Amino acid sequence: MIESVKGARDILPEEIARWHFVERTAHELFARYGFREIRTPIFEPTELFARGIGEGSDIVAKEMYTFLDRKGRSLTLRPENTAPVARAYIQHQLHRRGDIEKLYYIGPMFRYERPQKGRMRQFSQIGVEVFGSDHPAVDAETLEMLVAFLSRLGIEPVRLVLNSVGDPVCRPSYRQALVDYLTPHRGRLCEDCRRRLEVNPLRCFDCKVPADRELMAGAPSVADFLCSECAAHFDSVRAYLDAFGVAYELDPRLVRGLDYYRRTTFEVIAPSLGAQNALLGGGRYDGLVESLGGPAAPGFGFAVGEDRLVLSLPDAAAAGDERPEVAIVALGEPAIAPALEAARRLRRAGRSVIFDPVPDKSLKAQMRRAHDRQAAFVLILGEEEIARGVLTLKKMSDGVQATVPQAELLTKLQEMAHA
Ligand code: AMP
Repeated sequence: MIESVKGARDILPEEIARWHFVERTAHELFARYGFREIRTPIFEPTELFARGIGEGSDIVAKEMYTFLDRKGRSLTLRPENTAPVARAYIQHQLHRRGDIEKLYYIGPMFRYERPQKGRMRQFSQIGVEVFGSDHPAVDAETLEMLVAFLSRLGIEPVRLVLNSVGDPVCRPSYRQALVDYLTPHRGRLCEDCRRRLEVNPLRCFDCKVPADRELMAGAPSVADFLCSECAAHFDSVRAYLDAFGVAYELDPRLVRGLDYYRRTTFEVIAPSLGAQNALLGGGRYDGLVESLGGPAAPGFGFAVGEDRLVLSLPDAAAAGDERPEVAIVALGEPAIAPALEAARRLRRAGRSVIFDPVPDKSLKAQMRRAHDRQAAFVLILGEEEIARGVLTLKKMSDGVQATVPQAELLTKLQEMAHA
């Protein structure tokens, strides 16, 4: 038997209603805030990620699915989608009119990580990106939408953790302070952190090794190094959030894994998820578009892990959303043609119908299937119905049934549904 690749999984029909519910909520709510969907390829030139995410990040250093195509070009399955969306923004000159561009995407990402619950090698993200403004109201309004999104999905409790990592004016002095703090302890650091110390010392905050974590607990705080513009920007974001009644916690150690972040960074934690409890992350990336060869267009966005979102949904979410309205039970070959006619009639009227032409299967077996699929009604065509040219409609919730000719089927269904 050939099985799916480690870290990649099938989403079976039993689970799909929850995925549809999450995606439908995203489409509806994001549109209300003026976001429009963008779909980019799942593979890109490797250079896009190397430049966009940064060579110093774990993703680029260790986690990318990179391969050569038949012409020897280096391609990479996208490990995240901010760089590809920024590439599309530049390539199609979406900045042309000077407007703010609000985009969102839903789709699979690929990272070579060690699989465990909530961590996959192929996983799906729902993300939004706002290009063309560095106004703190953009940060706050997008965060407000994010909180509304989680609340509409019924995901609680969550913690929104917020920080500012400064900009190219103030970050160098903070970076230097971290290097000065860590260098005397270099010998004690794990191998990864020694590499991080060279390329991006802020990343040491993400280290999971207990000794390193202890060391980082005493490290200088970025909050003490923000320049006056960054501090004012952060104050303003927080003032808007306070005005919206959006609750958050401050954590100066939240630096996020990707190199392109500037100023606002944030994460949402769902304690119910256990070890892999980060539901989403995001922040401001004002230099990204420029570093990819585009204009100086600031950006702000987040990416939610859709798999983790689905895992955190309340059990009742989307329950029954995709149940068929009618299951047809047809006994014997002569029942097939009238069953098909009834199915067609119902579907044309917008009803969802399941009908498997298995005339030899017993009434009991066919009823069990209708029950398993949680159909609201069963339409029975047995010998007696065929002989009389009628149909028996049974409402599953109360067992009430009625016998009607084809022509009255729709009216009867409607009547019984509302009874
Ligand atoms: P990031 O792009 O690393 O900021 O990740 C944003 C969100 O995507 C995380 O908070 C997770 O919810 C989700 N995510 C990242 N990596 C994985 C993975 N390997 N498996 C499942 N979800 C992931």
